[in-house]
Amino acid sequence: MREQLYIDGKWMEPALNGRFEVRDPATGEVFAHAPLGTSDDIDQAVAAARRAFDEGPWPRLTGAERAAYLRAIADRILADKERLGRIEVLDNGKPLPEAVWDMEDAAGCFAFYAGLAEELDADEGEVIPLQDARFKSKVVREPIGVAGAIIPWNYPLLMAAWKVAPALAAGCTMVLKPSELTPLTALELAAICDDVGLPPGVLNIVTGFGNNAGQRLAEHPDVDKLAFTGSVPTGSRIMQMAAADIKNISLELGGKSPFVVFADSDIEKAVEWIMFGVFWNQGQVCSATSRVLVEESLYPRLMERLVAEAAKIRIGNGMEDGVKLGPLVSEGQHAKILGMIEKGVAAGAKVAHGGKRPQSLEGGYFLEPTILTDMDDDNLVWREEIFGPVVCVRPFRDEAEAVRLANDSPFGLAAAVMSDDLDRCERVARAFRAGIVWINCSQPTFTEAPWGGYKKSGIGRELGKWGLANYLEVKQITTFDHNERWGWYIK
Ligand code: NAD
Repeated sequence: MREQLYIDGKWMEPALNGRFEVRDPATGEVFAHAPLGTSDDIDQAVAAARRAFDEGPWPRLTGAERAAYLRAIADRILADKERLGRIEVLDNGKPLPEAVWDMEDAAGCFAFYAGLAEELDADEGEVIPLQDARFKSKVVREPIGVAGAIIPWNYPLLMAAWKVAPALAAGCTMVLKPSELTPLTALELAAICDDVGLPPGVLNIVTGFGNNAGQRLAEHPDVDKLAFTGSVPTGSRIMQMAAADIKNISLELGGKSPFVVFADSDIEKAVEWIMFGVFWNQGQVCSATSRVLVEESLYPRLMERLVAEAAKIRIGNGMEDGVKLGPLVSEGQHAKILGMIEKGVAAGAKVAHGGKRPQSLEGGYFLEPTILTDMDDDNLVWREEIFGPVVCVRPFRDEAEAVRLANDSPFGLAAAVMSDDLDRCERVARAFRAGIVWINCSQPTFTEAPWGGYKKSGIGRELGKWGLANYLEVKQITTFDHNERWGWYIK
């Protein structure tokens, strides 16, 4: 594993020469040490990104030239997906097939933004029709400058790709700080960028902790744009830090997303998508549909099938064949989630399945797939993001009640609806107050489509052309295209 930071195109010792422990969530054992980047390292990284933006070739290359680098990065990730996937399993705990899928997705993200970088070359500026015909106005787009990216641990390399690929496509330079819980694949991305000859300072990777390296990056006056993915409390702090310099920010935050299942749904499909919606990646998914609302006539039969299928999920080390539920990412998350379940049950929720560490798996941070029922509107398990394999299921009477309960949340990241009646699905989809809505499925995510939330789930959108726009300034160029004098002071 790599033990140095990547700054200005070089592998560097951290300023304090420190390292921090990286644990395998399946065993709880330390298997690597990552370089401990601190505020001094962030200062160096931002200075390198600033030079690369102000004086280096990167923002001045054509989109096609930048695209060639992005495609080379995509190819390297794909070629190395098995090894990178294994590092991700050790770091995060997820089952290997999911990790390899993430690597393919990350490669696809770089390839997609290569295409958008090329399209920028053809953009000669949008001409804006003006009411005053003496003027001509066109709009051009330019890279924002130095971007900072702070990311979480649930999809370590994929979350990096969602930010690095569009930023580089736009012509920005970047400093990336991965989560202290999963720092390793970001350093592998640095090695890939080095290998493809990315110019020095274009991408700098500093691993370290949020309250030191992260905070310095969020506060740094030379960072023009800050892209953050993480929890609501940290997002709120980031917003305050960015306020001092009026930094452009985008925030992808938490969720507590509903899944409304009408009685005319195919019960097997409903059970499959409910499980995929909340047990995939151990439920550590911002858009996890963790509040399931089932029409009351279907509720008893669906609960029976859901509990039966959840009981069959194979739990274990993500490296083992056939495992569908790995450990949670850390001891802290494990303790926090068990605590939330305990409090939810004390407040009246019932455990229909799971709710504890599987007996056969001591050592790692394992939790059974958990199904809770019978909670009130204000039970914390119904209201707060749990970020684990825990689903709350409740019956509803009619469409109006389902929509009201679905929208009764401070979050608004995602929502899902299932019914054989597509008109009803479309109506409910429009009624949801959420940025991402799935009909007759839950979770499939596409690089081409916008990603982001309403309400406390964030500000702005990633992915697709919206993701590129995050890293582009908009400039109007207006020409006085007329022979007459202006005639205000001088007639
Ligand atoms: P977190 O907020 O604890 O940490 C996220 C990142 O912020 C980490 O890199 C951390 O080091 C850094 N950080 C922490 N304190 C900081 C500070 N004071 N200043 C600067 N940086 C700081 O979140 P997490 O536990 O890593 O991730 C889980 C959260 O992320 C969940 O709420 C989840 O919903 C959310 N998430 C959202 C999306 C999305 O697209 N909306 C995607 C993935 C995860």
